[in-house]
Amino acid sequence: MSRDFSQQIAQSLQDTAMHTALSRASLYFDLSRTWAFADLPDKDALKRRARQIKESAIEQLDDLLEQLQESVTRSGGHFYLAQNAQQANEYLLKLVRERGVKRVVKSKSMVTEELELNKHLEAAGVEVIETDLGERIIQLAGERPFHIIGPAIHKPREAVGKLFSEKLGVPYTDNPYELTKIARASLRESYLDADLGITGANFAVAQTGTFIVITNEGNDRLTMALPKIHVIITGIEKIVPTLGDALVLLKLLPRSATAQKLTSYVSLVTPTPERDVHVILVDNGRRRMRADAQFREALYCIRCGSCMNICPAFRSVGGHVYAGQTYMGVIGALWTAFVDHNGQGDLARARELASLCMTCGLCAQECPVQIDLPWRNAQLLSRANETLGRTPTDRLKSFVYRTLLPNRKPSCACC
Ligand code: SF4
Repeated sequence: MSRDFSQQIAQSLQDTAMHTALSRASLYFDLSRTWAFADLPDKDALKRRARQIKESAIEQLDDLLEQLQESVTRSGGHFYLAQNAQQANEYLLKLVRERGVKRVVKSKSMVTEELELNKHLEAAGVEVIETDLGERIIQLAGERPFHIIGPAIHKPREAVGKLFSEKLGVPYTDNPYELTKIARASLRESYLDADLGITGANFAVAQTGTFIVITNEGNDRLTMALPKIHVIITGIEKIVPTLGDALVLLKLLPRSATAQKLTSYVSLVTPTPERDVHVILVDNGRRRMRADAQFREALYCIRCGSCMNICPAFRSVGGHVYAGQTYMGVIGALWTAFVDHNGQGDLARARELASLCMTCGLCAQECPVQIDLPWRNAQLLSRANETLGRTPTDRLKSFVYRTLLPNRKPSCACC
């Protein structure tokens, strides 16, 4: 473990405001998840079905990509398969230049974090406005998302009140209702002036060319409908064969993510010739992950975030120790090995993140697509040690185990 990483962990452990906010959120998730799953007669059977859908979709990925491309272009949309982050950014920057785009509104998308898209757009002179409330908060604070579902989950309402007061010039309040009203008022104008809207997608249906986006704020609908150009950016692993498959996964995603039976808004969008819609499907290391028998399973992730909510390590150190990486928690460590550095992956950083795992196994029980996260994490550590050699800390641990422990004197009757 590097000195920087150790220092980040030490700082996080002392961050009482972050722990207060995280405890409030974790308590809510823990209590509500049981309620959210209560109406499903056989939760495990549904998880097995979801798992089968993802296994089969990743197995047929190349065929489904072709099918999706056909469906999108037949409906009147533009389709682009980006091999890496650079290609995805270049496609969008070209579009922005050609259409004279000055302002972009975005709804929440972790893939665009992976591409560092905002940075590229801003360097090209384009104003970017995040419209998801959590994303907007961290954009104003100049931070990266703390959690894949709740990007600003670490900020107590008092901190948000202070931030809004400083950045938006409004009187301080820590009333959540008032804070939401302030955010809504400041965002409404942005939609009207924006030339281009960017959304992600939770699922991409190959058969129909339909993209499903779930939110609780409805900001995705304004983002995709008000500006003249709509760009959908998502990872290739989000493809499923049919709408029926997507609906099975949709039964599990909000329940696992935010402990809701369904999110407030579920948008299904299929390109039409009347709208200028561009679909960018991003590989960026995913097909290398697919070709790797040990890590292919990580592609089944539907980004619910429940493995983070339950993880004792994540709850202790929070999401900012994963700074520099897009994805957090154990699943984040696995993805870091493949998607960082323009799809080349960063095995050394992935090992560092994987070393946080306490092997409690709680994440495997929570995962709606039954990914064996602790086992994959152990394989990641093993792969990194084989490839990069063991770290000095590991060598020291081995030395201690080999030389000191066998010679220690029992300190009590039981050991
Ligand atoms: S690994 Fe499983 S629990 Fe974690 S975010 Fe992905 S789907 Fe959810």
